[in-house]
Amino acid sequence: MVKIFIDPGHGGSDPGAVGNGLQEKNLTLKIATRIRDILGSEYENVELNMSRTGDTAVSLSSRTNAANAWGADFLLSIHINAGGGTGFEDFIYPNVGAPTATYQNIIHEEVIKAIDFADRGKKQANFHMLRESAMPALLTENGFIDNANDAAKLAQPAFIEGIARGHVNGLARAFGLKKNN
Ligand SMILES: [Zn+2]
Repeated sequence: MVKIFIDPGHGGSDPGAVGNGLQEKNLTLKIATRIRDILGSEYENVELNMSRTGDTAVSLSSRTNAANAWGADFLLSIHINAGGGTGFEDFIYPNVGAPTATYQNIIHEEVIKAIDFADRGKKQANFHMLRESAMPALLTENGFIDNANDAAKLAQPAFIEGIARGHVNGLARAFGLKKNN
């Protein structure tokens, strides 16, 4: 049994990045919920948990505490970027090595394969979600909300579905999950 903890960034009084009529907190919840639902319905031997399932404010420490207390095997934090760029990038904690770096390689490749986003590369950063989680963790930044082209994509349900599907394909490959036929 593989336990995957999915963390939709921001929520409640914290909208995260905003732009082009979109709010990061809503997009991250949609993507995370679809990842959970697809994995839960199509794959076996996987247990799923989320840091929030609605539009609620959850502190960063509550999120990592929940993942740690649950004993997650992997933490996936979903975000949308802002600040003048375009495309997809993801982060692991600096110099953690395998298996986290292997998971990043696989999930990055599958997300890029699944959607039409510029590839900004695989990165490292000292983020709370990556540092305070006791298990391998990956934080993905799914497009720039303040970029008109990225935002137009993020406004389409089919594109959100593609982002979720890319993450699912990556998680399934990374953890050897089998489909339930
Ligand atoms: Zn964010």
